[in-house]
Amino acid sequence: MRCPKEPTIELAPSQLTEGLDAHCCPSCSGQWLPKFNYQRWQAMNAGLEAIPDEVLPLTLETDYSAVPLDSRAGLCPECGTYLKRARLNLQKSSFYVERCPICEGFWCDRGEWDVLEALGLHIQIPIVFNLDWQARVRVLEQAERQRAAVIEKLGPALADQVFDLGESLAGHPHGDFAVAYLMRKFDK
Ligand SMILES: [Zn+2]
Ligand SMILES: [Zn+2]
Repeated sequence: MRCPKEPTIELAPSQLTEGLDAHCCPSCSGQWLPKFNYQRWQAMNAGLEAIPDEVLPLTLETDYSAVPLDSRAGLCPECGTYLKRARLNLQKSSFYVERCPICEGFWCDRGEWDVLEALGLHIQIPIVFNLDWQARVRVLEQAERQRAAVIEKLGPALADQVFDLGESLAGHPHGDFAVAYLMRKFDK
């Protein structure tokens, strides 16, 4: 098997984590996870780790930034098909996890597995390729970015008051009156 990103390099057998046999590139340290190895490991770990309902990579405290090879199109080491990519946005960067649409094995560039593990997504990598999951995450990301912008513009203290007020109004049957009042104040 050859490295998806560096077709002249032969992958070597490796163990990504206990019970999960993979194939590692000795040059770029990327890891290929064959479908059956991954599923076997996943089954072994099912129930041991809670699968988070909502995972927002954007909120992860990390300095990780994608390796340059991450953006290069990759070929499946098992069948040669172009790998499909799923994008994960972090605070300062983003990266792609890749999967063969035929063999359903995964490719993690160097460091990506650790980020997935920090997010609790390593136990359920297929979900990041799910379009519904991706759409949910994009909505959460938008809200999170809006929140960050409010804090940046108003400062944390006033931003907190705004968030508290927002919560109170959202839970009040006539909260929309307060919103209309505020809108009028700015309607000049
Ligand atoms: Zn490589
Ligand atoms: Zn394949």
